[in-house]
Amino acid sequence: MPFSDIPGQERVKTILRTALRDGALSHAYVFEGQRGTGRRSVARALAQALFCVEGGGDACGACVECRKAANGNHPDVYWIDAAGSTVKIDQIRELQKQFTYKASASRPRIYIIDEAEKMTPQASNAMLKFLEEPASQIVAVLITENGQALLPTILSRTQRIAFQPLSPEIMEEALLAEGHPAVLVRPAVRLSAGLETARELIQLNWFAETRNAVLQLAKESIHGFSAAMLAGQSIISKQEVSEHMDTFFDLFALWCKDMVLLQRRQTAKVVFIDGTEWSQRHADSKPFQLWVGAMDEALRAKKRLRQHANPQLVLERFLYTLQGG
Ligand SMILES: [Zn+2]
Repeated sequence: MPFSDIPGQERVKTILRTALRDGALSHAYVFEGQRGTGRRSVARALAQALFCVEGGGDACGACVECRKAANGNHPDVYWIDAAGSTVKIDQIRELQKQFTYKASASRPRIYIIDEAEKMTPQASNAMLKFLEEPASQIVAVLITENGQALLPTILSRTQRIAFQPLSPEIMEEALLAEGHPAVLVRPAVRLSAGLETARELIQLNWFAETRNAVLQLAKESIHGFSAAMLAGQSIISKQEVSEHMDTFFDLFALWCKDMVLLQRRQTAKVVFIDGTEWSQRHADSKPFQLWVGAMDEALRAKKRLRQHANPQLVLERFLYTLQGG
């Protein structure tokens, strides 16, 4: 995937495109940011652009070199990851072997270490020595969630690039383009720090179930506390919901926020897009402060559940607040 197809991270992409175009890439980069911010995609795009026959500041994504780099079978692109535990010295040694004995020093080469903070001390030291070797055509990319966990001596030899969390709007655009349903994309991007997490959430059955449960209960709450409580008891007895009460209340907080948005006629930002007709009437029927209070109460409910409060009592208290106390 070329840089141009990667959602968000405009600043990061500009830095790398400019360096590629000017032939001024650093010997080593640290890509630092949360999971799902596109660090791996950008590393892959960098590898593609480095070898793309088109040249310039981005990859074409279609030539043989680009395809090899994307599929992980380019001879001059080397990936290392922690494979669930640590990055070990043997993995760094194998990389050195691959890159040192391949005589074609005139060609650029790139290696990418994913979860670089999981390098063992021995691996870090071997990696540091490798960085210090004056092989001008080698680019290193260290991907990490926490740059501070890398050796200071490694950091001082690298250019650190921060990946900011993607905005919900950018994630939404990307996931809709992938064909995911908007009713799930909207809440998922607001509950996820990154694209991958949001994508996973959308594909989980319980997430769709829990979202439906919130909408159903919100609708019942129109008919008063007793009706809401009765519906609530049956809803939280469903396994999909009862096992994800945290998300249930996160979603309910989003629904309360929707009520605020609807009161202000900011319909474009609404998360529960499949109930706006009755929601609009309901939103207008209660004071603004009630919705803000209920939103806070949903977040407090999560906290109480973490402290092992009885889920039924927590729900009861929340629904009571939702009625205006
Ligand atoms: Zn290409």
